[in-house]
Amino acid sequence: MPPPTYAGTNETSESKTLTQSPIAPAKPAKPHLPDSQTVTSVQHWTDRLFSFRVTRPQSLRFRSGEFVMIGLMGDNGKPLLRAYSIASPNWDEELEFYSIKVPDGPLTSKLQHINVGDEIILRPKPVGTLVHDALLPGKRVWFLATGTGIAPFASLMRDPETYEKYDQVIMMHTCRTADELEYGRKLVEDLQNDELIGEMVEGKLLYYPTTTREETARMGRITDNLSTGKVFEDLGIPPMNQSEDRAMVCGSLDFNIDVKAVLESFGLREGANSEPREYVVEKAFVGDGI
Ligand SMILES: Cc1cc2nc3c(=O)[nH]c(=O)nc-3n(C[C@H](O)[C@H](O)[C@H](O)COP(=O)(O)OP(=O)(O)OC[C@H]3O[C@@H](n4cnc5c(N)ncnc54)[C@H](O)[C@@H]3O)c2cc1C
Repeated sequence: MPPPTYAGTNETSESKTLTQSPIAPAKPAKPHLPDSQTVTSVQHWTDRLFSFRVTRPQSLRFRSGEFVMIGLMGDNGKPLLRAYSIASPNWDEELEFYSIKVPDGPLTSKLQHINVGDEIILRPKPVGTLVHDALLPGKRVWFLATGTGIAPFASLMRDPETYEKYDQVIMMHTCRTADELEYGRKLVEDLQNDELIGEMVEGKLLYYPTTTREETARMGRITDNLSTGKVFEDLGIPPMNQSEDRAMVCGSLDFNIDVKAVLESFGLREGANSEPREYVVEKAFVGDGI
């Protein structure tokens, strides 16, 4: 019978004893954060944007489109938490987040430096209005986002329920420059090529990215492309109307206010979990938009 080996090595207990230092100091175990989850991957998209995935608490159930509080331990020893939309769909084993890097932002100035194996704090209490339950049934659903506001729709676009509920799903995403659209563009491309959901998405998911600063093939603000009717013409669909169209909105406070006015001009009314109607809104952040 061969001698027992140490897990993960081929060393026998005898050879291990011979090479071990006699005074190996015991390392103190790294303390776990409260509600800690482990980072499993990190991807930097631009110097202002990154996405990351973390382990999912076993007990966490959420509806695609909801947000949770996540963060790190602050210098004062207290958790520093911010609201973040869950960008992964509810069937995913892990949780994905898509984040801004605010240079002097209390959380993101640190969060942008996380690596695989690090821990973050995640309070497992999902909430939010960008959920299917908050809309009345319809023919088309419009996802309207600027910047990191695409995060809840990254979840909803990957949820089969979205394609069961609607004949057409239109993702309008606007950023200043083309590289800021890359996370969404790649996500849509992967979705269309996905073995499981690809067929479901085919012909139903219409992606309409635009830039406001960098010269690209498609430009303009979401509000302008809706109110001038350009997006309806480009996609060959009828103008928005109360009986067929539903919308979910996520961007800066100013963007949300402007889009609400446009949606109301098409006869859509704001809904909520408690009172489903034709559109719902969530702010992704307060402050300057695009
Ligand atoms: C419901 C909800 C969901 C959110 N989901 C996300 C998300 O999925 N991804 C994400 O990156 N942020 C999201 N945010 C914003 C997030 O909570 C933080 O504000 C952000 O992470 C910055 O944190 P901070 O502590 O570094 O700076 P903060 O002190 O929170 O913000 C500093 C300033 O940075 C700007 N800013 C903050 N967030 C953004 C942003 N996302 N895009 C552009 N400018 C911003 C604002 O001008 C703000 O005043 C969400 C906010 C809310 C209310």
